[in-house]
Amino acid sequence: MTLLCVPIFVRDAQQARRDTALAAEAGADIVELRIDEMTESFSVNSFGVPCIVTNRPTWEGGRCELADEDRLKILAKTADGAAYADVELETLHRVAGVPDKIGRPLIVSSHDFQTRPAKLNNLIIAMNEGPGAINKIAWAARTVRDNLEAFEILQRRDKPTIALCMGEAGIISRILAKKFGAFLTFASLEDGVGTAPGQVPIARMKRLYRWDSIGPQTKVYGVVGSPIAHSMSPAIHNAAFDQTGIDGVYVPLLVNEGYESFKAFMESFVPFEGLDLSGLSITIPHKENALRYLTEKGGQIEPLAQRIGAVNTIAIDRQNGSVKLSGRSTDYAAILDSITNKLQAAREDLAQFRVAVIGAGGTGRTAVAALAHYGATVVVYNRTRDRADALASEFNGKTGKVVSAPMEKLCDSCCQIYINTTSLGMHPNMDASPFDDSVPKLSPDSLIFDAVYNPIETKLLRQAQNAGAKTINGVEMFVRQAAAQFETWTGKSAPMDIMRNVVVDALSMRA
Ligand code: NAP
Repeated sequence: MTLLCVPIFVRDAQQARRDTALAAEAGADIVELRIDEMTESFSVNSFGVPCIVTNRPTWEGGRCELADEDRLKILAKTADGAAYADVELETLHRVAGVPDKIGRPLIVSSHDFQTRPAKLNNLIIAMNEGPGAINKIAWAARTVRDNLEAFEILQRRDKPTIALCMGEAGIISRILAKKFGAFLTFASLEDGVGTAPGQVPIARMKRLYRWDSIGPQTKVYGVVGSPIAHSMSPAIHNAAFDQTGIDGVYVPLLVNEGYESFKAFMESFVPFEGLDLSGLSITIPHKENALRYLTEKGGQIEPLAQRIGAVNTIAIDRQNGSVKLSGRSTDYAAILDSITNKLQAAREDLAQFRVAVIGAGGTGRTAVAALAHYGATVVVYNRTRDRADALASEFNGKTGKVVSAPMEKLCDSCCQIYINTTSLGMHPNMDASPFDDSVPKLSPDSLIFDAVYNPIETKLLRQAQNAGAKTINGVEMFVRQAAAQFETWTGKSAPMDIMRNVVVDALSMRA
């Protein structure tokens, strides 16, 4: 069993006891008491939770400035009654007789807060040969690929081992530690009080990342992008796994901009034995890179995704040792299905509609391609007219008719459906709307769809409601694209209501 350990910086014995109790209440199996700043020892005998005691020197990224002998004295006294004491591999080199001085089972550790240690394998060999009961190695992830090396260290361990990558790119080494049989992983008591970069708060580890459900067979899914820290996708997909009882976990995968980074990620993660990577959401800036990669690899690509020029979903099917990759766009399906669901119509019925697509960026392009594919007449409005012209001429006549018109004429238009795919009205510029202050002629049959989801109710949607029109908010699109991904990967129908609640909750916390 992999333990969930909450590290606590100790300021005094009372605070250490209080935080230990809070950690236990939050579900910690063990705590690490970082006594770097203590000048006196204290007793952990009645803390009620197994403890690791650590007195980390400044030269290993800690805060203790004492000479080694003095530092070890406080460590030994405080660790009396603790489950383990952590000492640095370097301390074993600097000081003779450390195991006898400490007298507790040792975690022998090595940390690099800058980069991957050049002699990583030598460090592991030295730890294996040393007196420790447990090896611990942690380094700052250079890229997300460093996590794979941490997983390999766990897979090949000779002793119980902790192998972690620090920083945002290293988060998966913490979440998936249990899948790879680590001795423990660290989770902070709260946001911002961790002892190393990238620690996830314990509540989030348990609820968001499904810590209790993770096991060796758990399938791994994730969102590939940069930046990725504020993505709502882990919350929505993990909630869906929870609700449907699927043995999966969905994680953020920070992959730097550029095709080469994306390719390197795919080439290392997809075949990695034991990771069971089974599906990927692709977000900015990698949707075009995903299409290019699948094209190069001969992966199956949905024709409309090909025409849009972007893939936001990759399914990874493993059968009899072979891996099949396929790509699609669930963004376009989300746009179409949000509309047809609201109108109680079939996709084919869209041929009867005249639709204004406002914006000619990625989402605008997706909307135009999807609507034109189903025969709608589309008018593209965009701040930069040239982009609207180019988009219209690219998709005009494929099935539906696509034309462009000046943004200033938007309010004179006579469309039945208006879709805003610009960022107008998005937080923090919530007073903006593509309609400005004059609204086109709307009726109860008009439909206004705003792709912006933060805030959920935009100025545009309020203008539409005041004019008596039907509305669709950006949450609907977000939920539907995620639901379609879930269904692509699992073959099960997605729990849309749960997914919607998760997004609404997440957005209300941000408001
Ligand atoms: P994008 O590719 O960067 O395109 C941005 C579009 O907005 C362009 O057409 C741009 O016009 C226009 N624009 C930006 N600032 C403007 C301004 N001040 N006035 C007028 N037009 C302006 O972005 P995207 O990825 O398509 O995203 C667009 C919006 O859709 C964002 O709000 C995003 O949050 C939302 N979105 C929602 C979902 C969902 O699931 N609900 C999914 C994806 C995106 P120019 O060509 O003139 O620059």
